[in-house]
Amino acid sequence: MTKPRIVVVGSSNTDMVIRLARLPGPGETILGGEFVTVAGGKGANQAVGAARAGGGVTFIARVGSDSLGAQALAGFRREGINTRHIVRDAASPSGVALIFVGAEGQNSIAVAGGANQRLSVRDVRAAAPAIRAARCLLLQLETPLETVQAAATLAAKAGVRVILNPAPACPLPDELLRQVSILTPNETEAALLSGIPVGDEQSAARAAEKLLARGVRTVVITMGARGAFVADGGVRQLMPGFPVDAVDTVAAGDVFNGALAVALAEGRDLAEAVRFANAAAAISVTRAGAQPSAPSRAEIQSLLRTGRVPRPAKRRAGG
Ligand code: ADP
Repeated sequence: MTKPRIVVVGSSNTDMVIRLARLPGPGETILGGEFVTVAGGKGANQAVGAARAGGGVTFIARVGSDSLGAQALAGFRREGINTRHIVRDAASPSGVALIFVGAEGQNSIAVAGGANQRLSVRDVRAAAPAIRAARCLLLQLETPLETVQAAATLAAKAGVRVILNPAPACPLPDELLRQVSILTPNETEAALLSGIPVGDEQSAARAAEKLLARGVRTVVITMGARGAFVADGGVRQLMPGFPVDAVDTVAAGDVFNGALAVALAEGRDLAEAVRFANAAAAISVTRAGAQPSAPSRAEIQSLLRTGRVPRPAKRRAGG
């Protein structure tokens, strides 16, 4: 089977994580930490999630001309992602997130977007043929809004389905929302965009109604372990999550979006696609890290078939 073409426009970061007994306060130095480097950034996480779930992925992004950018590119290539439209930026460093994690799991995060902030409308236009040829365009909000908007407009005009994961949360113009086929906020983002606090199925339904009224065609609100609430046409339905032992929910939403894009691009209906995405994201929360936690297609299919999370089968790239 040829892989369905998916284009992801978005951010790539390197997450530099130090695990400590507790978080340092201002002016304080704490020794004895353990350091790991993990590939991250919402765009990159979703591109990798989609590639592992079975998509033929093209990633449109900017990384620096530094060693972190080279490592990120090598990681994407190992995943079989088309990197032709990833620009090496000579003027800005690669995006970096510095993350402190304390013994009780509390964290403190500082992000320097670097080259991600310079992903431009021109970069998107240069990749227009790839976007027009895609079955699905997947977007998030860690790159400039005008770039996101340009990509959505290009895709919508060509009849390409647009999935927008509105993360990190920020107010969005109706003009953008009208070009979105499927909006995939988590509960916090749904609350920010709709003005309705979301905590259960009823409030999710009310928030979804508000978002539909702003011109989005379909709303899928991810609700952590509970799964995802779907509002599409006349359908209002909570698609339950898969019960698993969660160890690290970092990038659960990213894995969900990558898998959702693949299933929809394959022509599955929305309910089936959300089930596939719930399964992929459930496996990811049983594993540590952002990109390293994204499951393969075989692993997703195994959970769907057996109801059990498969053991990790191979070395995971990017970690
Ligand atoms: P985000 O990571 O963006 O905050 P959510 O927490 O809503 O988003 O998680 C996204 C998806 O990941 C959920 O819709 C669900 O499919 C899956 N998920 C998250 N947490 C769990 C969990 N504890 N058990 C099973 N699935 C989970």
